[in-house]
Amino acid sequence: MIDFRLEEEHEALRKTVQEFAREEIAPVIGDYYERCEFPYEIVAKMGQMGLFGLPFPESVGGMGGDYFTLCLALEELARVDSSVAITLEAGVSLGAMPIYRFGTPAQQQEWLPSLVTGAALGAFGLTEPGGGSDAGATRTTARRDGDTWVINGTKAFITNSGTDITRLVTVTAVTGERDGRKQISAIIVPSGTPGFTVSKKYSKVGWSASDTRELSFADCVVPASNLLGDEGRGYAQFLSTLDEGRVAISALSVGLAQGCVDECVRYVGEREAFGHKIGEYQAIQFKIADMEARTHVARLAYYDAASRMLRNQPFKRQAAIAKLISSEAAMDNARDATQIFGGYGFMNEFPVGRFYRDAKILEIGEGTSEVQRMLIARDLGLSRPWQ
Ligand SMILES: Cc1cc2nc3c(=O)[nH]c(=O)nc-3n(C[C@H](O)[C@H](O)[C@H](O)COP(=O)(O)OP(=O)(O)OC[C@H]3O[C@@H](n4cnc5c(N)ncnc54)[C@H](O)[C@@H]3O)c2cc1C
Repeated sequence: MIDFRLEEEHEALRKTVQEFAREEIAPVIGDYYERCEFPYEIVAKMGQMGLFGLPFPESVGGMGGDYFTLCLALEELARVDSSVAITLEAGVSLGAMPIYRFGTPAQQQEWLPSLVTGAALGAFGLTEPGGGSDAGATRTTARRDGDTWVINGTKAFITNSGTDITRLVTVTAVTGERDGRKQISAIIVPSGTPGFTVSKKYSKVGWSASDTRELSFADCVVPASNLLGDEGRGYAQFLSTLDEGRVAISALSVGLAQGCVDECVRYVGEREAFGHKIGEYQAIQFKIADMEARTHVARLAYYDAASRMLRNQPFKRQAAIAKLISSEAAMDNARDATQIFGGYGFMNEFPVGRFYRDAKILEIGEGTSEVQRMLIARDLGLSRPWQ
């Protein structure tokens, strides 16, 4: 049976987050964004609501939901603001999830209780200044020295890595070579470890109320027991983390695309030109109809990827398709919404201006659109001559 209607508890969660976003985030987020300030108060409320624990079982302090519940929450948050949505997405899928999936019982006990309640944030450092798409080209190294790892290198653009509540970053690093291939492992580095320096925040085009930093490691020493999963498995672990993360980013993109439709439907019923509401002109109606159609298709794509994921079926291709088309839908809707708002669309005080600035990164982060096309092509069996 084909059925994309939400079950009662999913619908209830969606409504709760929708109300929270409209009542608690919408009135204040513009000021945080303008000041490029991390919204600690909002993040704390999201923690109290249990949003950071959504996809984790109660046995580790979570809410006992699933990954789809997280996606629904991300969609509703991003419908109002993407900075808070990406803070949740990165905190859950890049910060806590790798520790839940690959961590030892001791690592889970140490880190998960604070991560799944949102009292603390974790980050994941894969991208380096020299490149992100080619994740296997990692230059950061971790050398085993007795009971420790000594880490050297630099990571770029790492979300949630420098807030007052950040407690750890998991980094990928080359830990050796096997059969002529680099061994890449994932290692947990607690915030404040000597030799681990967090730079000041980047000045970004969008996501201005979220935290993104460059990180450097100079003879940074952590216990050997901070290895996450098996040595040499860090690359594979991260790729599977990203497959899930793409479904989440797709949900976030759908939220932004829907937020553009919401804002436009309201505005065109108020704004007048040439003696009529602009919403009476068919040129405007067709633009909004196209925006709604893109959003609907993108939503179905992420629902499909999420449902395969929850049924333990292969979903790599569907996740890449969902990420590709929903980020492009978000970008197209943001452009059209800004046009419909005219000059006001270019003003930061209107949400569509924020949506315009926030949309572009969706085609870049957690795998660019080109990387998604590569994944889809590879899954179709199209290989490249040098592979
Ligand atoms: C705000 C923000 C937050 C981020 N958060 C995180 C985070 O928390 N953790 C993390 O690890 N990273 C994070 N990133 C990094 C992000 O994932 C990378 O920027 C992204 O994967 C692209 O890597 P790159 O910037 O090095 O671009 P590059 O890999 O240098 O790519 C440059 C261009 O070349 C294209 N390209 C590359 N290879 C090919 C190819 N073979 N064929 C065709 N085109 C190709 C790319 O698609 C892109 O258009 C973040 C980035 C930003 C901006």
